Amino acid sequence: MNHTYRPKSPISVPESKWFGWMSMVWSGICPACGHGMGVIPALTCLYCALDLRCASELDCGNMREELSWRIPVQDASALWMAPSGSVAEALYKALKFGGKRHLGSPIGAMMADHRDGWHPPPHRVIPVPLTPKRMWSRGYNQAAELANGMASRWGIPLLEYALRRKEGGLNLARLGRRERFVKAATDFEHGTSPASLVYSQDLAGLRCLLVDDVMTTGATLEQCGKLLVERGALLSVMVLARKLGK
Ligand SMILES: [Zn+2]
Repeated sequence: MNHTYRPKSPISVPESKWFGWMSMVWSGICPACGHGMGVIPALTCLYCALDLRCASELDCGNMREELSWRIPVQDASALWMAPSGSVAEALYKALKFGGKRHLGSPIGAMMADHRDGWHPPPHRVIPVPLTPKRMWSRGYNQAAELANGMASRWGIPLLEYALRRKEGGLNLARLGRRERFVKAATDFEHGTSPASLVYSQDLAGLRCLLVDDVMTTGATLEQCGKLLVERGALLSVMVLARKLGK
């Protein structure tokens, strides 16, 4: 497999391999700006698609640098860079807070293809978990939706319950950078479901890809990653969007 960089267009066209997924996503309304999208199935309208900026090899290298002094990470990558007010930010917020669950799996497949440009596929895909309460109120875990799209694309196991987020934590989105590091240090633990216990013995020596929707300070990825490394996993991380600025 060739792992050199292959730039990907964020725009879907009928003859591309995205056509099938985009057909499922398409609802006629752009999830980023709310305008009509015409007759060609696509993730966003043309104007929003032009605003999406894929993370470059350099962007991903910087992410890895930022994380590698905190956790032993093999590689780190993102699909999009998300400055404040960008379309990428609107899309991850639509998935996370706007109930657009159907965006998760096809965007996850895009993330898998974007990562394929640089790195070999992992053996396991593991999403950052939500608290049970948040899961109940939202109805789905957006990171698990993305991870599911990636796992399906590669045909590998998705370990949705390998990690657990403790109940009673504060919402990280409302905290400052410094507070996030302190808070996230106590928010996660190993999964306790029967399935996760079985799988937890299988992580040693395997390339495990930790998936989240957005990376701001990396505090969440750091704490979850530490738990996976404790189990002997060869850790990589990928997010839908690397948030820039406040
Ligand atoms: Zn739009």
